[in-house]
Amino acid sequence: MFKKILIANRGEIALRIQRACREMGIKAVMVYSEADRDAKYVRLADEAVCIGPPPSGQSYLNMPAIISAAEVTDSEAIHPGYGFLSENADFAERVEQSGFKFIGPSPESIRLMGDKVSAKQAMIRAGVPCVPGSEGALPDDAVVIKRTAKAIGYPVIIKAAGGGGGRGMRVVHTEAALLHAVQTTKAEAGAAFGNPEVYMEKFLQNPRHIEIQIMADQHRNAVYLHERDCSMQRRHQKVIEEAPAPGIPRRLIERIGDRCATACKKIGYRGAGTFEFLYENGEFYFIEMNTRVQVEHPVTEWITGIDIVRTQIAVAYGEKLPFTQRQIQLRGHAIECRINAEDPYKFTPSPGRITTWHAPGGPGVRVDSHVYANYFVPSNYDSMIGKLIVHGDTREQALARMRTALAETVVEGIQTNIPLHRELMVDANFEAGGTNIHYLEEWLAQRQR
Ligand code: ADP
Repeated sequence: MFKKILIANRGEIALRIQRACREMGIKAVMVYSEADRDAKYVRLADEAVCIGPPPSGQSYLNMPAIISAAEVTDSEAIHPGYGFLSENADFAERVEQSGFKFIGPSPESIRLMGDKVSAKQAMIRAGVPCVPGSEGALPDDAVVIKRTAKAIGYPVIIKAAGGGGGRGMRVVHTEAALLHAVQTTKAEAGAAFGNPEVYMEKFLQNPRHIEIQIMADQHRNAVYLHERDCSMQRRHQKVIEEAPAPGIPRRLIERIGDRCATACKKIGYRGAGTFEFLYENGEFYFIEMNTRVQVEHPVTEWITGIDIVRTQIAVAYGEKLPFTQRQIQLRGHAIECRINAEDPYKFTPSPGRITTWHAPGGPGVRVDSHVYANYFVPSNYDSMIGKLIVHGDTREQALARMRTALAETVVEGIQTNIPLHRELMVDANFEAGGTNIHYLEEWLAQRQR
C-alpha cells in the first residue's frame, strides 16, 4: 500500500480523507492556503505545506504548487477530494507525468465525461438511457436548431457542454425564444467555461434526481453501490440527500445500476464515480457523470457498509475491488443534511468565528465536519461547514434520528441553515418521500417566517 498520500483539498473532505489514511496506516500530507493555516486538521496532519494565499486560484487550484508539495514531501499519490482540481483532466495528467498516482480515473476518462456532449455520446453507445435531445453539439444553422427543438418537443433546455455547478443552462418554452436563448447560452458558456459548445435536451417537467454510485478497479471489475435521491435542491445545488430512494422498485435500480457498471467496463473507468439521472414516470435519463467522490458519499457508505474513500485509495494503488456485486447488501436508510454557513432565510453566506459548536451524537449519527468552537469560517470558499448524516433501520427511524440530532446541534457566532433542515424534517411531503427537483424551491417560495 501507499506509505504517504498528499490531500489536495480543504475542509471536511480533507479531514475525511485524512481519517481514511490514518486507518490504513498511510501518512497524510495536507496542503493549505493561508486562510486555513490554523485549522485543526492541518495541525493534526503528519505533514503540512502552505501552497499560497487565500484565493483558491492561487492555492487549491495552483497545480505547480501542489505538485511541488508532493515532491518535497516524497508523497506517492494525490487525492483531489471533490471540487477544486478533482475533475480537471490536465491536473490528473500532470500528476501522473510527475510520477505520482492520481487517486481517481485516468485523464482520458475525466476528459471524456467532463464534456457533457462526449459523455452523452459515450453513454448512448454503452446502452445507458439519456434525456432525448440533439445529437451532439448544436450547429450554427438556425433552421437545423428549430427543426431539432420541434422534433424533441417544447419545453427544451439548452445546456453548455462544459457546464457545471448548476450554471450554463436555459429553459425554452416557445420557438420565438429559441434562437436568442441558444446565442445567449453560447456566449455565457464561452466566457464561463472556455467552451461555447451547447446542446439541447427535452426539459423534463417533474423529475427526481437519482444518482448511481459506482466503483471500478483497473482490472475491469465494476460494481454499483445502488442509488441516492438528491432531489431536494436549491438553485440546482443539493441540500438533502438520502439512500435508498423512497418508492423506486429495487429491480429498476438494479437494471440501471447494471447498465452503469457495464458502461464503466466499456470505457475502462477506474475509481469512484457517479452517474446522475433524472427519473420520471418510471424511466431513468442520464444527465452527467461525476468522476470523483461526492459530498453525499456517506449515505451510500452507511447503507452498504462500504468505505468509499478507502476503496478509492486501494484501487488507485492497483488492488482489485474487495467485493463483488453479489456481496453488496443494503441495510436500512440514511439521510444527509448539508450544514452551510449561511442565512437560513436569505441564503447569503455567513462567514466568521464560530463561538459555540455542539455536535450531536448517539446511535446512527455521523458528523463529518472540520469545524469546532473558535474556528474561523473563511469567506474565500464554499459555505458548507459540515454534514450531518443519520442511519436507521427504516426511513422513519432515520427521520426521527435526524430530528433529534438537529435539535441537539448548537452552532453560535455565525448563521447556519440548521433551522431550514429542522423545518424540512417535519414537512409532510418530505416525510412522505419522493418529492421532485422543484419541490424545495416551491416550498421556499411559500415558506412562512
Ligand atoms: P451541473 O453539471 O451544472 O450540475 P446537470 O446536467 O447535472 O448540471 O443538471 C443539474 C440540474 O439541472 C439537475 O439536477 C436538474 O435539476 C436540472 N436539469 C438538467 N437537465 C435537465 C432536463 N433535461 N430537464 C429538467 N431539468 C434538468
